[in-house]
Amino acid sequence: MTQTLHIIGGGMAGAEAAWQAANMGVPVVIHEMRPAVGTFAHRTGSLAEMVCSNSFRSDDDEQNAVGLLHWEMRAANGLIMQTADQHALPAGGALAVDRDPFAETVTARLRAHPLVRVEPGEIAELPDSGHWIIATGPLTSGALADAIAAETGREALAFFDAIAPIVHFDSVDLSKAWFQSRYDKGETEEQRTAYLNCPMDRDTYEAFIDALLAAHKAEFKPGETAGYFDGCLPIEVMAERGRETLRHGPMKPVGLTNPHQPDVKAHAIVQLRRDNALGTLYNIVGFQTKMKYGAQTEVLRMIPGLENARFARLGGIHRNTFLNSPTLLDGEMRLRSRPHVRFAGQITGVEGYVESAAMGLLAGRLAASEILGRPVSAPPPETATGALVTHITGGAEAKTFQPMNVNFGLFPPVDLKGGRRNRPARYKAYTDRAKAAWQDWLGHFTVGKAAE
Ligand SMILES: Cc1cc2nc3c(=O)[nH]c(=O)nc-3n(C[C@H](O)[C@H](O)[C@H](O)COP(=O)(O)OP(=O)(O)OC[C@H]3O[C@@H](n4cnc5c(N)ncnc54)[C@H](O)[C@@H]3O)c2cc1C
Repeated sequence: MTQTLHIIGGGMAGAEAAWQAANMGVPVVIHEMRPAVGTFAHRTGSLAEMVCSNSFRSDDDEQNAVGLLHWEMRAANGLIMQTADQHALPAGGALAVDRDPFAETVTARLRAHPLVRVEPGEIAELPDSGHWIIATGPLTSGALADAIAAETGREALAFFDAIAPIVHFDSVDLSKAWFQSRYDKGETEEQRTAYLNCPMDRDTYEAFIDALLAAHKAEFKPGETAGYFDGCLPIEVMAERGRETLRHGPMKPVGLTNPHQPDVKAHAIVQLRRDNALGTLYNIVGFQTKMKYGAQTEVLRMIPGLENARFARLGGIHRNTFLNSPTLLDGEMRLRSRPHVRFAGQITGVEGYVESAAMGLLAGRLAASEILGRPVSAPPPETATGALVTHITGGAEAKTFQPMNVNFGLFPPVDLKGGRRNRPARYKAYTDRAKAAWQDWLGHFTVGKAAE
């Protein structure tokens, strides 16, 4: 008899993982703690509940990386995408979803699947044997989080994200910014030039502080405590503590010389650090923020060198339980110390409904193929799903790892000349390449077509 796959958590990732594995012929048990044990954000006992916005973001599969992820999940008969399409609401180029019927349909289809059983109850221990996927999300229950931390070490499991904005390297103006590590520290040339630096004169700095103080900020939700405060103050809170605070913190102008203007001493300097092995993404060091997204782009583009910055992701601070996946998980999402346990969804350090569901789809297929004795490897980084899993399981810098949305900066670059004007052609080349690679990857599965 085929062994059973146990999935802890029936959210976006767990629901999709169950559907994929069951459609490959593997019996699945979903262990879901709601409604008996709730979270501060969930309201119902349904599987795949959308806890906040009702948007799956852009549905453009030619020009947008999240739209491409939609396409890949649809091509793999994904339950989350099928159901989202069934309950779509008018939203221009975005895919918005009627949340209650959406979650009720996902729940009903999984409950009706002959190979899926939903077992109510909280799981509080890491399993010792069997085949497991942990997909307990950003609000993993305290008992299970403690058990995970006992296995991984507390420093490898975060309870808040503190996301500094990330920019695409090719959108930084290198006629203003320059590469240099503070005091030229480092053994190698690569280390001595590890940072990008953006200089500010006094007037720009003062205007920047004014804009920070005036910007709209997001409020914490009830139940989200401000326990992050010690380690990583949001930049606007630093600015509120004093106009000079940032100049003595993440914007201190010491140990750096601007080669574009060697005789001018900068009043403040913003540093960006490489965020992925490809060198396509840079994070703005120490710039975690609760500013609303519109305000963030406006304020951050005041930084010299970032006037035309494109953001791969904007900053934020949220209650969010997530692993340091680059150190803990292998490329197939298995916990290195207990390879019979996979992780999926937001707890792996991806961010968002769509990304979480995609990681569920992948974990479900990988686990099922292993159980069936026909193991398949993760998809290549040219696909959206592959780019995301490659990033979280190794491409990202482990030391500064923070949750990530899918974006083209995670993909191996395509070689097209033409800069900004040619961006539509470049994105089309990314998505064409991804679709072909995804179809190839799906071809490795001998089963896995939709049951209905
Ligand atoms: C307050 C808040 C707002 C958010 N807003 C958005 C948004 O607007 N847009 C967006 O794209 N993303 C948003 N997110 C992120 C969102 O949670 C994820 O995108 C997505 O829900 C993650 O999917 P998941 O399957 O990993 O986790 P979830 O969907 O949260 O599913 C995890 C499931 O595991 C269950 N569970 C937890 N612990 C246990 C246990 N020990 N035993 C059994 N079951 C357990 C939970 O009850 C839950 O059903 C938000 C997150 C939070 C916390």
